[in-house]
Amino acid sequence: MQTFELYSIYNQCNGVSTDTRNITENSLFFALKGDHFDANDFALQALEKGAAFAVVDNKELLKLNNNKLIVVDDVLKTLQDLASFHRFHIGLPVIALTGSNGKTTTKELLHTVLNKKYNTIATIGNLNNHIGVPLTLLRLNEDTDLAIIEMGANHQNEIERLCEIAQPDFGLITNFGRAHLEGFGGVEGVIKGKSEIYDYLQANSKTAFVNFDDAIQNQKSLDISRFGFSVENNSSANIQISKAYAQPMATIEIDNTKITSQLTGLYNLPNISFAITIGQYFNISLDDIKEAIESYTPQNNRSQWVNINGKKILLDAYNANPSSMQVAIQNFKQLEGDSKLMILGDMFELGTEANKEHLTIINETIDSNISTIFIGDHFFENQITNNQIRYFKNLEEVFSHLETHQLNQNLILIKGSRAMALEKLLEHI
Ligand code: ATP
Ligand code: MG
Repeated sequence: MQTFELYSIYNQCNGVSTDTRNITENSLFFALKGDHFDANDFALQALEKGAAFAVVDNKELLKLNNNKLIVVDDVLKTLQDLASFHRFHIGLPVIALTGSNGKTTTKELLHTVLNKKYNTIATIGNLNNHIGVPLTLLRLNEDTDLAIIEMGANHQNEIERLCEIAQPDFGLITNFGRAHLEGFGGVEGVIKGKSEIYDYLQANSKTAFVNFDDAIQNQKSLDISRFGFSVENNSSANIQISKAYAQPMATIEIDNTKITSQLTGLYNLPNISFAITIGQYFNISLDDIKEAIESYTPQNNRSQWVNINGKKILLDAYNANPSSMQVAIQNFKQLEGDSKLMILGDMFELGTEANKEHLTIINETIDSNISTIFIGDHFFENQITNNQIRYFKNLEEVFSHLETHQLNQNLILIKGSRAMALEKLLEHI
């Protein structure tokens, strides 16, 4: 079936569904495959549950002669092509963002800012991959003014493909960090892979939003319009942030307006600056930008303050990589408090760099002079003995330790990769 034919079916349907536990009445069901499932097996169930049609790619299903089953060569590719077709027809401005760290935070801040004036649709949560991006695009409708699309990647050519699908008019890279080194092939690979968004913008004469304080972004010679900010008196910046500081909360001053976010951490300053800059680009008043940014609270264990049993916990257990770990330690070092503890978990997807990166973090904590508990095999295997540090292989070992030992410190940072699930510690503190 041609994309335009499917598009006319899509237009008669009530959105799309991909999960039979959650079927929208009269929706178009896409039978996607995962590592552990093949939704072709559930296509009939989707129809029973109210889907109008199901797009499938198991040719055996042809034998059923069911005119509600649309048999294609590749369901995922069909979904992406449909999303791309829809995005093209709907024609509204799309802002795409990628980067190693801070994508979701920047996207959420920007969403609240742009919503002050425009009906804006943004990626929900972290649905930022080859499935999430098309699903987000298919949520755009005639009432939408602007779209913000988060793009995640852990290997080359992924951002290139997501840009082909989303056709952004504006793009930004939050930063280039030491994340997903395994898939990208080192730091140079990260820069190359993330810069695919610039390649798209350049090839299509679109606009880039840039952090002029980021040496790599600043030095990229892009022959397109660049609109960006600086706090370091960079004369090429369109927007000069007069002051930015992170105590006690990330705060920015611009044109005599002080914007105090509910985010902690120096590393959130560029995220906030992007939201201000793009808000100004789209003619949102500084008062509205301030109100939007100040109203945003972080979610899902991203740099959140939690109070438990008289202890103040900076819960940053959503994820970790060497770059975000490093800035989290630096930030924690600067926080006022005389009894501090860091509980840090393994960082994944680092390939051959894993040992070196875990060692670097151990050395940083030794330099910081802050008591630290390390959890996970990587830290355990690379341990350096130091009287301020303890190593545990896994969370279970920490739980049993905590049954007999109370933590003395009252200011605690918790950070580790998603699979470490360090938020589980909260019940044991
Ligand atoms: P993911 O790759 O999972 O989509 P993300 O890029 O969307 O991550 P966020 O979810 O916004 O990132 O933030 C995750 C964590 O990254 C935060 O809790 C914080 O520790 C760290 N972080 C946020 N912004 C930055 C930044 N600009 N630089 C470094 N670390 C950051
Ligand atoms: Mg994200």
